[in-house]
Amino acid sequence: MNTKPVSVNSHRARKRFGQNFLHDENIIARIVRAVTPRAGEHLVEIGPGQGALTQPLLEALGEAGQLSLIEIDRDLVSILEKTFARTTNVKLIQADALSFDFLPLATNKQPLRIVGNLPYNISTPLLFHLLQQNLDHQQAGQIVGDSSAARSDSAQGAAPLFSDMHFMLQQEVVQRICAEPGSKQYGRLSVMTQYFCQTESLFTVPPSAFSPQPKVLSAIVRLMPHQQQPHVAHNNKTFAAVVKTAFAQRRKTLKNNLRALIVDSALRDLDIDPGARAETLPLADFVAISNAIDAS
Ligand code: SAM
Repeated sequence: MNTKPVSVNSHRARKRFGQNFLHDENIIARIVRAVTPRAGEHLVEIGPGQGALTQPLLEALGEAGQLSLIEIDRDLVSILEKTFARTTNVKLIQADALSFDFLPLATNKQPLRIVGNLPYNISTPLLFHLLQQNLDHQQAGQIVGDSSAARSDSAQGAAPLFSDMHFMLQQEVVQRICAEPGSKQYGRLSVMTQYFCQTESLFTVPPSAFSPQPKVLSAIVRLMPHQQQPHVAHNNKTFAAVVKTAFAQRRKTLKNNLRALIVDSALRDLDIDPGARAETLPLADFVAISNAIDAS
């Protein structure tokens, strides 16, 4: 496949789009190995930039696979258009990934694999957008496949929209995503991500791998949306509200933070100490609190 990049040196990195372009061949190869694209899959790269990851991903994917690229910067889109002009299995989309609807990309009921070296300023909202899209997809699938009237707000049993997601993020964000209860990094992002996905921190990437160099360390994280969630909240909105409220003031106890949602005795009935802090609570307890609120 002859898809060598056209000259891209004229592009000046734009700060507002979080442009730090990868140039370290070893790191690029390591990321592609972590993703391991296979023939016939549909990969979606968010923020392909100048194509540093795109080219090797495409080579690994082969002609039988499909690669969709979502890039916000029009100048980069026109560069990528030239690069991939003769490549029929690349679909280039100029869009803001934060509001992009990924559902129509999943044709033939084939799950999507997401990859992205993401701008740090959009990583958390983008993650929440993708988790919401995945949930919408699973619930829609459940409605089609499930004629019973008693459908909970949670998606159980329907295939995920995304089979996995590999992201380069600020290392500190990866640590928060993967954190265990009781650790300093454990918080809302950990609970919300782990509710929907299995999370795995893969490896760190130094600033020297990018141009221009960011000021912080980066890391690669793998997220795999659960086929079957291990803990199911009856209502995802209640669950999200409980998690947000429980962590609203980190130093305060559950009793204080959750005062408006649940009484102490109800927490004790769940074997949860009202004097504990949210940062010590496992995911299952947040789900139990959420379900107790919905049942009351
Ligand atoms: N993938 C390239 C690489 O590894 O060298 C570029 C990575 S750079 C950190 C982030 C890329 O995401 C840039 O190309 C930027 O223009 C693009 N981007 C920024 N915000 C975006 C958004 N909201 N939607 C889609 N792409 C975005």
